[in-house]
Amino acid sequence: MSRVYNFSAGPAALPLEVLQQIQDDIPDWQGTGMSVMECSHRGKEFVAVAARAESNLRELLAVPDDYSVLFPQGGATMQMAMAPLNLAEPGDKADYVVTGSWGKKAAGEAAKFCHANIAADAADRNFTYIPEESTWNRSENAAYLHYTPNETISGVEFHFVPGGDVPLVADMSSTILSRPVDIGRFGVIYASAQKNIGPAGITLVIVRKDLLGRARQGNPHLMTWKSYADSNSMTNTPPTFAWYVADLVFQWLQEKGGVEAIADINERKARKLYAAIDNSDFYSNSVAKDCRSWMNVPFVLADNALDATFLAESHAAGLTNLKGHRSVGGMRASIYNAVSEEAVDALIAFMIEFEKTHG
Ligand SMILES: *Cc1c(COP(=O)(O)O)cnc(C)c1O
Repeated sequence: MSRVYNFSAGPAALPLEVLQQIQDDIPDWQGTGMSVMECSHRGKEFVAVAARAESNLRELLAVPDDYSVLFPQGGATMQMAMAPLNLAEPGDKADYVVTGSWGKKAAGEAAKFCHANIAADAADRNFTYIPEESTWNRSENAAYLHYTPNETISGVEFHFVPGGDVPLVADMSSTILSRPVDIGRFGVIYASAQKNIGPAGITLVIVRKDLLGRARQGNPHLMTWKSYADSNSMTNTPPTFAWYVADLVFQWLQEKGGVEAIADINERKARKLYAAIDNSDFYSNSVAKDCRSWMNVPFVLADNALDATFLAESHAAGLTNLKGHRSVGGMRASIYNAVSEEAVDALIAFMIEFEKTHG
């Protein structure tokens, strides 16, 4: 077996221990004589998985009791429509702080269902900063304020939680579980799974219970958070395999010491990698230092004619998926929870060597 260091932005690396557990479990899961994919979601074995995943997630993130934890399908993208459909009426205003492509997409989706006011937009500097909070143009009586705590493509992360007293709606797809978060500050948190949770196909939504009553009349059942809250997310057949893997990932994270422990490692991984970039004239990252992402580290080479060589040689060295998003160019190293410190060390060593050879 040969495993690479996988810096993919998503679907992203999963812990090897989890993959090995899946491999062991597949033919005969828990003495059922079948794989988890072949079991009823209403059977006692699967119901136990669902319950354990929720209780571990609640413990990992210290989710208060007045929040529901939901596991719909549809990814973060479906939540971009569900947020307005569950929190706003057609004429209502909702504020959007756009610090990258995902926030822009969320605002575009919301504009189909309500009045989406762009309270701030960092496109003027190519999504490399967060506009000063005091300059945000917030609406009076907004139904909610939406933002993207970590922009996966440009690598911009909020190291603070915005203020105000309207419900905060946060797309945490690429930062959830990477560090502690004060859930009580939020109205709704949503995240697609394929970065820090598990395989694509399941989504995490944490919603304050008092907001569940705001869904529009006539909303489709599967687009209504309350349907999931009322059915333990078994509104229809859930993505059982993805849910089972998420449960294993949550257990893995518990064994690692939880979110505080992984946050220390994540902080160190990011600090080392940015230091390596900043200490060289060969590599650079243009994101403002106070909002650099811990999870997604984009960087460019001084001479982009070397990009293809960098990608080919890094790939040959077992460091994969370093190509930057097409809208940004250059490179991007996504260093989620399952990407070890050893992987980051190997990347830094490769970068130093590459600069010596080609710089
Ligand atoms: C990956 C990602 C998404 C998209 O998730 P899907 O599962 O493809 O819908 C949305 N927002 C952010 C911040 C992401 O990182």
